[in-house]
Amino acid sequence: MQNTNNIIYDLHCHSTASDGALPPSEVVKRASEKGVHHLSLTDHDTVKGLIEAQHAAEQYELSLIPGIELSVSWENKCLHIVGLGINPTHSELLSGIEEQQKIRSQRAKKIADKLEKRRIYGAYDAVTEAAGENMITRSHFASFLVKNDHARDLQDAFDKYLGQGKSAYVSTPWADLPSVISWINNSGGVAVIAHPLRYNLTTRWMNRMLTDFRDLGGQGIEVVTGRSNKDDINRTQLFAKQYDLYASTGSDFHAPDQWVELGHLADLPHECKPVWELFNTVA
Ligand code: AMP
Ligand code: MN
Ligand code: MN
Ligand code: MN
Repeated sequence: MQNTNNIIYDLHCHSTASDGALPPSEVVKRASEKGVHHLSLTDHDTVKGLIEAQHAAEQYELSLIPGIELSVSWENKCLHIVGLGINPTHSELLSGIEEQQKIRSQRAKKIADKLEKRRIYGAYDAVTEAAGENMITRSHFASFLVKNDHARDLQDAFDKYLGQGKSAYVSTPWADLPSVISWINNSGGVAVIAHPLRYNLTTRWMNRMLTDFRDLGGQGIEVVTGRSNKDDINRTQLFAKQYDLYASTGSDFHAPDQWVELGHLADLPHECKPVWELFNTVA
């Protein structure tokens, strides 16, 4: 587990405000039960869960760092940038989020159209109902496909239909990297590259991405994520060093018994500058 003097940080997780299985208060409760001291709830393109999470954090005596995970289009690829320590009432951030929400709704329609071409009907109604006021994500589509016997499990739904290049994949015009980093920075937060090894970038593309991110005012990178092994951590730590980025750690928890548990993280390498060193200096 990640700790400094036994303090456990988990700076990336999801609730029902996006594609997590638990409501924000349950995520906080569970984090506290798992021994997490500092938690950031980072739902996809929304800050909607943060008020409920903050109330729960007071109840369970855990410190909540307001967060978000923003989808970004960069060089025709989709990246995820986590904002930590953001001000969730900041107007520029909120109008950015509103745009992302529109993009999500439009994409959902297009995904459903593609599924109809495969004779899978009713997806749009099902996912809009399941998401309610919350963000519609591909995970909602994956659940629909599993429930209706079009896929064995969530992974299978991505492999067959929803993953990049599959029959119901829709390339999406998310906000660009300069915009997303400025929304985060201007709202007092720290921009962090989420799960950097998950984009399958070659070394050359990775260096381009890190250079752009750094030049635009990004400050952090997830060195430890829920699924990283020792080798991944070593590789990512070298990027952090080379680009003078602060190191973050986060499970990317979505649901109990799926992937990784809250707070169950490897230690950050000693050489890293932990991202929480910045939290006292940001609003
Ligand atoms: P979206 O932001 O709507 O495109 O949805 C992306 C979310 O889908 C990610 O945050 C994951 O939670 C989930 N996801 C992406 N790829 C997979 C996969 N191969 N298997 C299961 N879930 C996935
Ligand atoms: Mn997700
Ligand atoms: Mn992500
Ligand atoms: Mn995530």
